[in-house]
Amino acid sequence: MSDLVLENLRKQFGSFVAVDGADLTFENGKLTALLGPSGCGKTTLLRMIAGLESPSRGKIMLNGQDIAPLTAEQRKFGMVFQSFALFPHLNVARNVSYSLRIAGVDAKTRRARAQELLELVQLGDKGRNRIGELSGGQRQRVAIARALAQNPEIFLLDEPMSALDAKLRNDMQMELRLLQQQLGITTIVVTHDQREAMTMADRIVVMSQGRIEQVGTPQEIYHRPANPFVASFIGNANLLQGRTIKNGVRVDQTELIVKGQGELVPGAEVTVFCRHEAVRLSTDSLGENCVPGLVTFVRDEGVAREIHLETPVGRITAEIPGSFHETVRIGDRLIAELSPDTLHLLPVAEGVAA
Ligand code: ATP
Repeated sequence: MSDLVLENLRKQFGSFVAVDGADLTFENGKLTALLGPSGCGKTTLLRMIAGLESPSRGKIMLNGQDIAPLTAEQRKFGMVFQSFALFPHLNVARNVSYSLRIAGVDAKTRRARAQELLELVQLGDKGRNRIGELSGGQRQRVAIARALAQNPEIFLLDEPMSALDAKLRNDMQMELRLLQQQLGITTIVVTHDQREAMTMADRIVVMSQGRIEQVGTPQEIYHRPANPFVASFIGNANLLQGRTIKNGVRVDQTELIVKGQGELVPGAEVTVFCRHEAVRLSTDSLGENCVPGLVTFVRDEGVAREIHLETPVGRITAEIPGSFHETVRIGDRLIAELSPDTLHLLPVAEGVAA
């Protein structure tokens, strides 16, 4: 088996470009998440892979063959939609074996395969139930089992968790991930939820306005975002505008030392990136890059506290774990320490809100 490869794939609706020249390789047996805000083109990209939308340009290569001319039925990919799209008039087992019936598989084989798949998704005793008797999570498992009935080479899921409540969504993310690893099936999941992508994916493709902004492991995307868009979309980060100096960056009148970014060319406009959880707060200026600040907002999130400070470099948000700084109040004066090895410099992008 070889990888699924997209070459310069583009989709235009009239003059509107929904997907703009996507070059991507989906590795065999891995789970890739297509992640981005509403309208960024991720569903359109998935639909082109599924054969539900024809590309305006470019190739979709599977096993070295361009499958763009094939219909969705000919591709035989497994697909789970946001709505699950189950048949309410058929029982659970018949929903699962539906595509086998269409393919002319005999009744005995169909029944055996449906039972095998229902056991795989932990619904072995629900085959005779009506769809209306199942919970949201159980329906989703039926949709997954149905999509896997024909042993598809590629498994596609479009926002598969969005109809589930938060707790169930968390559980199903883990279940789906375990199932995918167990089967070793090449899987592509569309989501706008960065936590979902981080939980499930081997690789994340971050998209914005029809373009691919970055491709990487969850760790790479989180710790080494390629640009301010990715940095602000994934996790919580402080983004400050500055200009490089020999050993760091000047933000307004304040010089911050930056380490581990290679040799810096002074005078370049950059965005300084620092995760909320990387900021340390204290009452004394002890370390490097200490900026004084006035507390303007405090939010208790149980496991952590979010504290906003107005400082000479702009607003800094710190996320402090546990019950430390319990006594901090709006109006307090604190020092924010932006340790040099937690600062990363990103190229400036036009029109990106920090
Ligand atoms: P969401 O999370 O909201 O579904 P998305 O990232 O999946 O967003 P797409 O559904 O791929 O985005 O849509 C990308 C853009 O293409 C949107 O601006 C959408 O309005 C447009 N679009 C999608 N399908 C069509 C169509 N059939 N005709 C015209 N425009 C379309």
